[in-house]
This record gives sequence, structure tokens and C-alpha cells, in this order.
Amino acid sequence: MVNLSRTTLRGLATAGALAGLAATLALPAQAAQTSGSAATAATAGSVSTAATQAAATPKPILLDGTGMVAGPPPAGEGLTTKSSTTNVVRYNRLYKTGPITASKCKEVNVSLRTHAGVVAYDTQLFKCLYASWALPLKQAGAAYKVAPKLIFHQSSAVNSPCGVVRGGTAFYCGYGNGLLYIPTYTVTNFWKQSPTFARAYATNTLSHEYGHHVQFLTGILGASWQRQRAISTYAGQMEESRRRELQASCLGSANIGANKRYYPMSGGLYQQWVYLVQHSGDQPGGARDHGSMKNHGWWSQAGFYAASSKTYAGRCNTFNAASSAVS
Ligand SMILES: [Zn+2]
Repeated sequence: MVNLSRTTLRGLATAGALAGLAATLALPAQAAQTSGSAATAATAGSVSTAATQAAATPKPILLDGTGMVAGPPPAGEGLTTKSSTTNVVRYNRLYKTGPITASKCKEVNVSLRTHAGVVAYDTQLFKCLYASWALPLKQAGAAYKVAPKLIFHQSSAVNSPCGVVRGGTAFYCGYGNGLLYIPTYTVTNFWKQSPTFARAYATNTLSHEYGHHVQFLTGILGASWQRQRAISTYAGQMEESRRRELQASCLGSANIGANKRYYPMSGGLYQQWVYLVQHSGDQPGGARDHGSMKNHGWWSQAGFYAASSKTYAGRCNTFNAASSAVS
């Protein structure tokens, strides 16, 4: 399972190339406006210039490399990998689990200006994600005590068991206990444009990647890749990829939503986060592997919001959704 298809590698290469671009993209107009009203706004000059440029050519924000897999998940007590791949992705026990626990962790008050700052920020959030996901993962029969390895780097190309990934995108590799790669310079580059946007981006990215870890432990990640390899058309393979990626965003957002009162995800940070999730998506001319901005925003907010004060992983069943909802 280590070998990725040529198509996948091409897709990754494209994503990587675009990622470098994303890191230097002008901040979207609305994000600049919301940050402008916050005390933590970046220097007004650079942001307003960026906003003007962005208004002329709005480009989706690239989400991540992708969630990949290169081995079986650690065995959980109730995890069955004998069901059909469709059953694993569509009727997984994860979807019947209870509310996601609020970790009650607070956002770390540290500047994201430097590599060390991003490491400190993400390391704390990582612990919170682990704590929040333990109960749903246990209920799903997965190996809930397994934490992935968090790897920070400042490289333009990373060699992982899932292959070489280029560019400044975070990605997840389902190998061993799971490997989670974070290029810190993408965050520090965003910080130069807006510290608040950088916080929203860092929070959302790590939460999304942890969503891939949840997929890995529950068997969804491996089963989805098996399904994708069995699909004969490129368009069909991309739809499967989008279901996987949109689900990771939904799961990540569900976790952010579960802990929103404590982090807190409110005020300027919340505004930037909403902007981010509504403007993340596939680049024009690039691989259609993550989904449109519209659908990305929809699934992210489906995860974040709940009818009650609780959020559930079951809201994130992208594998049972119509094609139009994952376009
Ligand atoms: Zn992803």
C-alpha cells in the first residue's frame, strides 16, 4: 500500500506547487476587513493593498496536501476492517458516536511570527485535539489512545512513508500510529499579512489534519483510498478524494465547535475562521481533490454548528452525501 498511483503523485505535485503560491497569496478582502477592526490586525498598508489585489483575482486558499495512507491502522477493540470498503466509509461506527468532548483547552497566547511560536501553538492544540477525540474514537471501536506523531518542518519538500510532498502544505500520512506534517513557514507567512488570520489558519489546518487521523483510526482513510483505486475514471477518483477531504474538514470543524467557548473561537478569530473555511478549496486549473469553496464552507460549518450546544462526528458523513454536495 506504500506505492501511490502516478495520478496521485501528479495530484500531489500540483498541490505542492500551488501551495507555495498560497503562502504568498494576498489575503482575501473580507479577511483583511475583519482583521482591520481587530486590535491584532497586521500593518494596515500591506493588508489593504493585499485586499485590493484579492478583490480583483480571488483565489481559493489551499487547504492541505491531502490525507494519505501507507499501512493499516492500529488495531482497535471494535474496529472491523472486514466489512466492504463502502460499509466502512458510509456506515462507520464513528457516525453513531456521542457528542465530541470539549477539551476546555484555551488558545495559546503566543505570536505566530516565528517557527518556535507555531510549534508552541500547535503543540498545545494537538494535545487538546487528542483529548477531545478520545471518547468518540473509543465509542467507534478505534484505537483511541493512539496519538499521531506531530512533525514540524521548514522544508519545501518532505519525504514521508506516503511519498514526497512538495510545497508548504500540511498533510497526514496514515503509517504506523499516523504522521502529521506541519510546515511552519506557511503560518508565519500568513502572520505577516494578518496575525489573526494566521491563528485561524493554524487552528483550522491542524484540526483538519487531525480529522485525517480520526479517519485513519476508524478505517475510513484506508477504505476510501481502496475505493479510489478501484474507480476507473479520474473524475470518479477525484470525487472520492473530495469526500475524504471534506470529511476531514468537517471533523476538524466539529472539534473546533465542540471547544468554541473555551478556546474561544469568537470575535475576530471566529470571523477569520469563517472566511477561511468559506474560501478554501480547489485552485482553478488544479486538481479537483479537495472540493469547491462553497462545499468546503458548507461541510466546515455543518461540523462546527449543531442544533444543540453539542457537535457530533455523525454530521460529517460525506460518503453518504449526493455528488453535488461534494463537488
Ligand atoms: Zn486533508
